[in-house]
Amino acid sequence: MKVFIRTFGCTLNQSDSEVMAGLLVKAGHKLVNDVKEAELVLFNTCTVKDNPEKRFFSELAKVLAMKKMVVVAGCVPQAEPGNELLRTVSVVGVRNLSSIAYVVDQASRGNVVRMLEFSNNPRLNLPKVRKNPVVEIIPLCSGCLGECTYCKTRLARGKLLSYDAKAIKQQLESAVADGVKEVWLTSQDCGAYGKDIGSSLPTLLKELLVVEGDYRIRVGMINPNHMLEFIDDYISILKNPKVFKFAHLPVQSGSNRILKLMKRKYVVEDFVKIAKRLRKEIPMITLATDIICGFPGETEADFEMTYKLMERLRIPVVNITKYSPRSGTPADKMQKLPTKVIKPRSKRLMELQARIADNREWLGWQGNIIIDEIGKTIVKNISFVGRNDYYKPVVVKSRQGQKGRQDHKKLKLGDVIEVRVVAAAQHFLEANKYG
Ligand code: SF4
Repeated sequence: MKVFIRTFGCTLNQSDSEVMAGLLVKAGHKLVNDVKEAELVLFNTCTVKDNPEKRFFSELAKVLAMKKMVVVAGCVPQAEPGNELLRTVSVVGVRNLSSIAYVVDQASRGNVVRMLEFSNNPRLNLPKVRKNPVVEIIPLCSGCLGECTYCKTRLARGKLLSYDAKAIKQQLESAVADGVKEVWLTSQDCGAYGKDIGSSLPTLLKELLVVEGDYRIRVGMINPNHMLEFIDDYISILKNPKVFKFAHLPVQSGSNRILKLMKRKYVVEDFVKIAKRLRKEIPMITLATDIICGFPGETEADFEMTYKLMERLRIPVVNITKYSPRSGTPADKMQKLPTKVIKPRSKRLMELQARIADNREWLGWQGNIIIDEIGKTIVKNISFVGRNDYYKPVVVKSRQGQKGRQDHKKLKLGDVIEVRVVAAAQHFLEANKYG
């Protein structure tokens, strides 16, 4: 059959879709890039916020109206198995990806199949179709150890299930043999890895870093409470040339009172200590964080604490989210702030970020980048995007009539080139090819 896969959500969901694509191709199906061409549409859904879920349901209605066959995977059916809107379609849960070919086959016969058990089916070293040929995504575990009151993901992904280190290493080895240049290690909380199997994230990373090859590892989100436990070890790992000098630590709020209401397992001072320590040891490290704006009960004073924290730490990458209640979560029962209070707060934070996170400290930087994205084609000028060792996105544009134009045309994904930064913006650097 011709199958169109529509993916919503995080890096882990993207990896789940790559595996489902691989299993469907192995079963003889053909992947198409246009929903109109498809006989069956596979939705891989996200429940972390209102928007992606609403968008999914509106697209589902359209696809059903087009009389397409449908299978729904991911966090929406897993977190809400009783959802009325999903009663008539086949669903496959986050722990049953390996059964996708069977579910699609049943759906093509007009049967409605529901596979939502929390089984320990294999998740690694399965066939896959990479979205980006130079990027390998490896999930370290499913679930987490958190009880965050706003989070619906944990209702979908469940309790922590760490994957076997040998299986993770095997997947890394075969990906490097395939020529990938970037390896994204991902999960809800990479910092929780191994806590259910007597291991830890640093232990795993040390085992992985013996794998030969010219690649870079990007480690996904780590909750501050876990980073505190192994920061010394983690700093020496970050200094390994194969590891991107990048750390994503979601702080969520600058107020300890709000962190308590969120049931986060650290205090603001912990986050500040970690940020300062990482910067002391790796001065240009790229720190990333997440902020939830307008959590129930957030007063003006709580918000000012968040604002001041961001102003003080000047974190270059901040994902700012306006709080939206998620059904089935403890926070959903809390008194919600009016939108007219939440909106201006997130606007102020966005403006702050636009003002302070200007990357000007990177002007004049010279070094290597891995080309991992073919950018927009602007008036015959192709732009390429690469990442340096600090996981900074660097745009390299070809220039009309410059000797370099010929060179740029030959650039391809995975190439490593030396560049010099000539301009800096909030979300990317701009560089010329050097030499
Ligand atoms: S750590 Fe918290 S926010 Fe993250 S997935 Fe787990 S419960 Fe959700």
